[in-house]
Amino acid sequence: MRSMVAGNWKMNGTRQDATELVTAIAAQEDFQCDVLICPPFVFMQQVSSLIENSHIKLGAQNVDWHIQGAFTGEISVSMVREFGCRYVLTGHSERRTLFDESDDVVATKFKAVIDAGLTPILCVGETLSQRQASETHEVINRQISAVLDHVSSDEFSRGIIAYEPLWAIGTGKTATPDLAAGVHAGIRQFVAEVDCELAENMRILYGGSVNGSNADELMAMEDINGVLVGGASLKSKEFIAICKAAGAN
Ligand code: PEP
Repeated sequence: MRSMVAGNWKMNGTRQDATELVTAIAAQEDFQCDVLICPPFVFMQQVSSLIENSHIKLGAQNVDWHIQGAFTGEISVSMVREFGCRYVLTGHSERRTLFDESDDVVATKFKAVIDAGLTPILCVGETLSQRQASETHEVINRQISAVLDHVSSDEFSRGIIAYEPLWAIGTGKTATPDLAAGVHAGIRQFVAEVDCELAENMRILYGGSVNGSNADELMAMEDINGVLVGGASLKSKEFIAICKAAGAN
């Protein structure tokens, strides 16, 4: 399966930072993997122009699930689609914890993204205390089931899963390749209970303090089909090193 590297800039950077970062990445040869950048909404037009004619794809960090209307401050799927955005992160842990997005809301957003013809990247993962209580699989299976309750298995198959343990996000504590691969295998097994073929073809990314030094060993694992990168996606050298590692795996 072709690897994917998705960069989530979160709420960082200036217009100039965005131009410099994207220009440096787009100047590279094709990485032989899928490269995705999820900038803040206000930089989307700018990033979209800069990546025109390049191998880089555009994603959104979030969307509202309503089609349109009186939802002050929100952005719809069709709006981001107009800028060439083809992917949307759904259920990032910061959305779940800081903005109270429930499993149900995440599932509704996943469905809205599918309905718009875009690809949702469903983020799932456990907290440190849940891991210590051996609840990792229970938590992740619940997060996935909530989406499966809202969509058909065919619709689910059009999405991507990103395993992002909360204790590894922005902490510098990466999951070991074995630990991450074990969880990925568990996710695949859980999805296989719904549909074997779907599970086999499901892209599962790992996210949590990925950088240019650890990306290669993570993506060398059979069940890790790419990475979702926060902090290191803001540094061109790091991000390019991660993309090169993905292309080699
Ligand atoms: C993320 O926020 O999705 C993430 C993985 O962040 P970081 O790479 O900084 O841990």
